[in-house]
Amino acid sequence: MDSKETGTKKYEFKAEVKQLLDILVHSLYTSREIFLREVISNASDALDKLRFESTRGTEITDKDLPLEIKVDFDEKAKTITVTDTGIGMTSDEVIKNIGTIAKSGSADFLKQLKDSKADANNIIGKFGVGFYSVFMVAEEVIIKTKSFKQGEPAIEWRSNGLGDYEIAEIDGSMNRGTIVEIHLKEDAKEFAEKYRLETVIKKHSNFITFPIYLGSEKINTVSALWREPKTNVKKEQYDEFYKFLSYDSEEPADVIHVTVDAPIQFNALMFIPKKSYDFFGYNRDDHGLDLYVRRVLIQHKNKDLLPEYLGFVKGVVDSEDLPLNISRETLQENLVFTKIAQNITGQVLSYLLKKAKDEPEKYAEFWKEHGRIFKMGYSDFANLEKYNELLRFNSSSNEDAKGLTSLDEYVSRFKEDQKEIYYAFGNSREAISQDPHLEIFKNKGLEVLYLYDPLDEFVISTVRKYKDYEFKSVDSVELKNLDKYNDLEEKKDKPADLSQEDGKHFDSLLSRIKDILGDRVVEVKESKRLSGSPAILVNPDDSMSSTMQKILRMTNKDMGAQKKVFEINRDHKLVRNLLKVFKSNSQDEYITNVVEELFESALLLDGSLDDPHKLVTRLNKLLEQSSDLYTEKNKL
Ligand code: ADP
Ligand code: MG
Repeated sequence: MDSKETGTKKYEFKAEVKQLLDILVHSLYTSREIFLREVISNASDALDKLRFESTRGTEITDKDLPLEIKVDFDEKAKTITVTDTGIGMTSDEVIKNIGTIAKSGSADFLKQLKDSKADANNIIGKFGVGFYSVFMVAEEVIIKTKSFKQGEPAIEWRSNGLGDYEIAEIDGSMNRGTIVEIHLKEDAKEFAEKYRLETVIKKHSNFITFPIYLGSEKINTVSALWREPKTNVKKEQYDEFYKFLSYDSEEPADVIHVTVDAPIQFNALMFIPKKSYDFFGYNRDDHGLDLYVRRVLIQHKNKDLLPEYLGFVKGVVDSEDLPLNISRETLQENLVFTKIAQNITGQVLSYLLKKAKDEPEKYAEFWKEHGRIFKMGYSDFANLEKYNELLRFNSSSNEDAKGLTSLDEYVSRFKEDQKEIYYAFGNSREAISQDPHLEIFKNKGLEVLYLYDPLDEFVISTVRKYKDYEFKSVDSVELKNLDKYNDLEEKKDKPADLSQEDGKHFDSLLSRIKDILGDRVVEVKESKRLSGSPAILVNPDDSMSSTMQKILRMTNKDMGAQKKVFEINRDHKLVRNLLKVFKSNSQDEYITNVVEELFESALLLDGSLDDPHKLVTRLNKLLEQSSDLYTEKNKL
């Protein structure tokens, strides 16, 4: 709507903004004070952007204004005013920046916000929807703003946060920057009070790098903590800075503060949070380090200083050796920047290695929180050695599924002559330990890594080796490589060996089984690895593990299942009975049924049975037969 007399234009908020406002205003009553943090952080961002422009030599309106933030209040009128001398906004920019939610994933954000009201404090700032939080306390907000771009008029924006907003050009002698005038609701008037404002600003905005004045008094610290010598900084200061930086309410698990002077100068102050926030999910952009050059913020959350798998690290990096007028787009091509990035990555990995060595319990806690993300680093070949040393898995030598084993520990427990690291894949510790493939490893007392996360399969198959030792999946291991290890104890309940003649019959039985299964299997042979189970499917020597095959099949539908070797345990009671049936009638239907059942059960365990119907029908038939025998035997 255009009203000619005043030059005022009315606009509707975009649907997602309305939704967000509705939640903010109606369902969030805790931590309302963070509205001030958000308004001040926008002022600070605007000042950072201005400083960035001016270091690049851009022409700027009112270029001699000091870079600062002012907070004023009027208890009687119930207003708070936040003024900055930052870049300001043009009329178009106001519409674009304040009327819409630009960031992707805002739908996710809204959902997240609805689901976890208590955590709003944490979520709001991370999503770049901070400005709207002002409507938690305001019945009306007026923004007056004038862009740093020359010749732009000052603009006034006003809204009650219900459904629309108005924009008008204002004349008069406004300076460059932005004034946010907050008219508090009756139930929020307590914020227009000196002590309250001071407490809130100190709590949430103390580390803003521009001076914040409350009235005429400067109340924040304005020091670049990362440039202080380590010995001067107290734990409380680190904690406070971390909370400021990350919006986390807990203190960090780790502080990594480094100063490097040669060959390249930089300071870095980094933190590892206690808790992992799934940044691959709803807030995937929420990682990266803030990059400063000589204290001037060049980029928030730069994604190239640390690889993504260390994305849980928060912090800032500040260098004297980068040019101030560097553009964000060319950072990655800058040699100094690349060197800094490499160095920082190395620092974080070394820190973790030291922690793993000196404080294994604490490292285990780290792993439980951040291990899932860390594992994504399997393709960081430059740091592979460190990466490998930092990996943790559950293992057969751990007492339960919670235990963790490093590759180094695994190797230290090698049997004599062992050259391979064995691993098995499954949904749980129970599932893996009942897997027939593990029987031979248990009998020989060989340690097996237990992998539960599909990602582990990628880790192992990319890394391939730890030191000189290759990873081998228990379902693709070459059996002859296991011959050299003795069984821990003689197998119990082992039936007498087959006579030479029965041995021959057994070989014929194997051929009969191959006839039944046809080219569904590569080969049918006697198993040397089983003790408790009658039969097993194994991959031909040295081929891909079954899980990897499954993963590949999921991504490539044309890839058929790899054929396997079907191994039969000739000492198993069931097999011995089959042999009796076979000797009396080699074509007995019963043999076919049992073999099909064994084969499909093995496929099922392998996770590659496409359709279980036949298996179940056959199983029911066999159960029926066995019930006949049971009732007969017990004269029922
Ligand atoms: P974010 O700060 O994460 O981008 P906000 O909702 O807090 O999200 O702010 C939205 C946008 O409004 C900012 O990105 C900025 O472009 C603009 N803005 C808000 N406050 C100011 C200000 N004081 N000066 C200049 N621009 C501002
Ligand atoms: Mg903001």
